[in-house]
Amino acid sequence: MSLLRLESLSARHGLLTAVQNIDLEVAEGETLALVGANGAGKSTLLRTIAGAHPPAGGRIAFAGTDITGGPAHQRVGLGLALVPEGRRLFPAMTVAENLAVAARRARPGEWTLSSVYDAFPALGPLRDRRASALSGGQQQLTAIARALLTNPRLLLIDEVSLGLSPAAVDTVYDTLTGLASRPTLVLVEQDLNRALTVAGRVICLLEGRIVLAAGTADVTREQVTEAYFGLR
Ligand code: ATP
Repeated sequence: MSLLRLESLSARHGLLTAVQNIDLEVAEGETLALVGANGAGKSTLLRTIAGAHPPAGGRIAFAGTDITGGPAHQRVGLGLALVPEGRRLFPAMTVAENLAVAARRARPGEWTLSSVYDAFPALGPLRDRRASALSGGQQQLTAIARALLTNPRLLLIDEVSLGLSPAAVDTVYDTLTGLASRPTLVLVEQDLNRALTVAGRVICLLEGRIVLAAGTADVTREQVTEAYFGLR
């Protein structure tokens, strides 16, 4: 059974249909990269799955439950977490306080404040630093740690590496791929090489539609680039 199943999912911004009739299944344990040009609908799709944006049509099933009309907190309770674009930490709160907020609402599971600090050693020395004073990479690690604290079965991460230095991107990916218990991942990643390296499957969106879906071992960078620009 798929962990996540989208059936003909659509979402709008006013008159603009940003996500159009998406059919997609995500299996437990896989890492899926979502790519596509600016405005292709990637953020809207993730936000709709997470319950942060209302669907205009279609269905979303997660872990066997129809969550199409349900509130975002129901999805967190079922094990769905989103690291949104821009990270959305509480800027005036410290790293420890940002994490504690998530820990309070957590599902039971192996991620706790102490296991998260073990898995993200870079965060320990930053515990008392305000989120607004962190670098982009430190913010992204904090946001991922915060999402993990809800003990998700599926973690959606928007724009994993946007605005980060190459070293920070390496740290974020090394941390993510090194996790002993890694949730199923759906990553929006602008860096195609990175997406093809990290993910087992890649989905390319163009104007809200899936124009390519393939195992990363079965496509070339050129094929994905062509889909990205609508050339195939
Ligand atoms: P980006 O990489 O720029 O974030 P994206 O692939 O994530 O792009 P979305 O942000 O989902 O794409 O945007 C899809 C379409 O919806 C675009 O045409 C965008 O202009 C439009 N859009 C996104 N957010 C809004 C909004 N809040 N109000 C109106 N239109 C929006």
